[in-house]
Order: sequence, then C-alpha cells, then structure tokens
Amino acid sequence: MPMVSMRQILDEAAKGGYGVGAFNVNNMEQIQAIMEAARETRSPVIVQASRGARSYAQDRYLYHLMLAAVELYPEIPVALHLDHGNTPEVCRSAIEMGFTSVMMDGSLMPDGKTPSTFEYNVKVTREVVEMAHERGVTVEGELGVLGGIEDGHGAGVSGLAHLTDPDQAAEFVERTGVDALAVAIGTSHGAYKFSRKPDRSVLVIERIQQIHEKIPHVHLVMHGSSSVPKELQDIINQYGGKIKPTWGVPIEEIQTAIRYGVRKINVDTDNRLAMTGAIRKVFYEKPEEFDPRTYLKAAREAMKKVVMERMIAFGQAGHAGDYEPIPLEEMARRYKNKEL
Ligand SMILES: [Zn+2]
Repeated sequence: MPMVSMRQILDEAAKGGYGVGAFNVNNMEQIQAIMEAARETRSPVIVQASRGARSYAQDRYLYHLMLAAVELYPEIPVALHLDHGNTPEVCRSAIEMGFTSVMMDGSLMPDGKTPSTFEYNVKVTREVVEMAHERGVTVEGELGVLGGIEDGHGAGVSGLAHLTDPDQAAEFVERTGVDALAVAIGTSHGAYKFSRKPDRSVLVIERIQQIHEKIPHVHLVMHGSSSVPKELQDIINQYGGKIKPTWGVPIEEIQTAIRYGVRKINVDTDNRLAMTGAIRKVFYEKPEEFDPRTYLKAAREAMKKVVMERMIAFGQAGHAGDYEPIPLEEMARRYKNKEL
C-alpha cells in the first residue's frame, strides 16, 4: 500500500466515529515502534515529523525510513505528516520530499513563537492549501495559540491565553479551505501541561463541541495531548531521573473530545518518557552493558506499548483494513472538482 493522504485517514475516522493518534518520529526505532503497534492493533497511522526532527535526522533519512515502513507493513494505511510547518516554503519542501500531509501553523509568526494576526494566518494557510491540494496533499491549519514550548516551538503562554473562537474558526476554514484544524482548548506542548489533574476550568473540552457544530466537515486536531502518566514519570525518577510532578491530558478527556469531533490526536511526550524510562532502567540494572541495541530495544518496546494503548483508547484499532488507499493524484482531482 502506498502512503495515503491524511485526509483519507481522517475522513474514514469521521465515518467510523473514532480518533487517530499522530505520533512524532525522529529515528528508526520510533518508526519501528509505531509500525509494530499498528500491525498488532490493525490500526491506520499518522506518522509526523517536526522541523526539529527534520533537522535532527535529515529529510532523506526520515523519508526513506518511512518508505521502508510502507514496504514492510503493506496492510497498514500510513500518512506522513509535517508537524508545525512555520512557513509556506517549509511546507513546500516537505511536499516535494514526499510528505502526504503538512501543517501550516500560521497561528505563530515564522519564528515559531510570536502569535500572529488572523489575516496573516489566513494568507499563509491559503497559500499552502493551494499548493498542497494541487498535488492531493492534506493541509492542517491552527487557530488559537497552545501553551508551552517544545523543540523551540510555541508562544510560551499559558494554555488559556488564546483559546480558539468558534466563529473565527468558521471564517478561517471558509477562507483557507483547510482539511483539518488544530484548536486551542487549554493544552500545552511538552511534559509540564498542568500542575494538577486538569478539570474543565483549564481543559476546555466543551469548546471542541462548539467549534465542531460550526464546522462539522473539518477534522479537528488536538495538539499537546500526551497524558503524561504517572507510571512513566515514576520509572524515570526511580532510575535516577528528575521529572517534577506534572499532569497531562487524561485519556477519558480525549475520548470525550473524540465524541465531540476530534479526529487527530498528537502524542509525543508520552513516547519520549517511555523511551527514556526504559533506557534509564537498563543503565541502572546492567551497568556493565554497552551494546546500544540492548537499551534501544528496551526503548522501542516501551514506546510500542504506549502507542498500542493509545491506538486502542482512541478507537483506531481494528480499522486498518477498512479501506483502499486513494492515490494522491485522485485526491488532487477531487479537490479540483470540489468533491472534497
Ligand atoms: Zn503541536
């Protein structure tokens, strides 16, 4: 099966009423962890690379690792998505490299941290939509500003500073033609999202429902949606790490959000925690060990376990075989004829 557009994966998720996790990758072990989890749970997957990942691993490595994944797991629909593209040029380079989906995050200026204006956001996002849809590639936009900073990306504001406004979301979608929209509902990037278990005063799940009512045909995306489970923090701390007490987005809140119309859920921090905990454990228990495969294998297994749990919780498990891939050229034709 060739790589598919993210739009197809999300359209199918909307039909089936489930959510799809989008997991970040930077290297081979993370890609392997996701693909193994997808095979075991029979899940369609969205694999995403941030600008940080592209500079860490180089585009060519990432892309060819993904080609290997597609070849080795022919039964799994896979979309390769650019996370937080900061300019139309960065999105263009990803599309040319073979990404089947891009995010143009025009909620921030190209520096990746200064909140932009609505008009700027519309302009750059529209530009990317025109360029991407011509090739059948999916576009995710963002409206509102998430809290926190990760990989140097983020305004560093509190999660509640710039929630997405439902009326503005409708205007944004109308003027840009995006396929998916990342919304700000109080979450933040990184491990330190909430200083206590979040309630509805800081994690405004109802906002999803209000936005979904205005733009029911657009797939909503939750960023900063790691759950930051205490067990994963504990493993790191038990083996010499120093993670301060912190809370993420509880799984049951994500499940509510999926019922309200969220189709894509971004998870990165949980996998980072799982891998680091597993590596620390090997180092602690086997100080004589020096073969990198020993701890990378443990890290890969730990990440696979988290990804499987999320795939089952989000509802994508069991849906890999539901549909035939639509080639990007056919997606391009559908965009052109306004069938999408
Ligand atoms: Zn994000």
